[in-house]
Amino acid sequence: MKIKLFLLFIFVSVVSAWAKPIKVMLVTGHTDKYHNWQVTSSYLKAILNHNAVFSTDEVLIPESGDAMKNFAPDFSKYQVVILNQNDVDWPEKTKTAFEAFVKAGGGVVIIHEADNAFPNWKEYNLMTGLGGWGDRNEKSGPYYYWKDGKYVTDNSAGSGGAHGKRVPFVINVRDSEHPITKGLPAKWLHQNDELYGNLRGPAQNIHVLATAFSTKETGGTGKEEPVLFTITYGKGRIYHCVLGHTGADFSDSVQDVGFQVTFSRGSEWAATGKVNQKLPTEFPTETTVLLKDLNQLK
Ligand code: ZN
Repeated sequence: MKIKLFLLFIFVSVVSAWAKPIKVMLVTGHTDKYHNWQVTSSYLKAILNHNAVFSTDEVLIPESGDAMKNFAPDFSKYQVVILNQNDVDWPEKTKTAFEAFVKAGGGVVIIHEADNAFPNWKEYNLMTGLGGWGDRNEKSGPYYYWKDGKYVTDNSAGSGGAHGKRVPFVINVRDSEHPITKGLPAKWLHQNDELYGNLRGPAQNIHVLATAFSTKETGGTGKEEPVLFTITYGKGRIYHCVLGHTGADFSDSVQDVGFQVTFSRGSEWAATGKVNQKLPTEFPTETTVLLKDLNQLK
């Protein structure tokens, strides 16, 4: 009888551990004039809610002023912090708390313009690996891209951050064994988006999962640019996705099933170091986009 009870206890413990949602803090509420945080966040929340793996709390950055001085969310209650923001500066004590959270093993997910943020916060740039705009230049670190079958660390002078027209482009998976990309097709067509290029930063402890070629014909850099990558900072795992441009009337990029799957898997990986989510039965191909509109604003 005791053995049966013990086995039941083990069974219940395993099931409840597996079923416990991952605690996510989504930091948003302010971005730059080129983006729309409401649209991005509504999609990010919809993706996170889609398969019941996550429990998400949205934390809104206060409007600038006195309220900002008291912006001090408790990162330690969460397994992963997702950043959808730009053009803000956190109080020093909040920056210090965030650094401690990540160093101790907290996960971080960077979406699109969040890598434009905090150009002068050294530790943040170590977490993001690469960033754009904000007067970034050779002092920020090298350019980092894929050329002739290997990654190039390019210290030449020049500004950081560029993109061409919003067009569809092919995502090339460079590591198909990583938990985030395992099982995905080697190439898939991503729906209209800004393909960030010429990003620069410390690029330390960086591991690229996927790249995309930025064509000169579309106003791009002519380079094979990293688009999905991971960074480690202390014990923390960071998943950096340069995809995901939105505006008030533009959400093509976040409707791509490829974006949704990699964002959801990347968030789980940043939180736990593993990915247990199964792949959907349908996925975009090299020549055909696959869109799913999950917008919760409707
Ligand atoms: Zn953008």
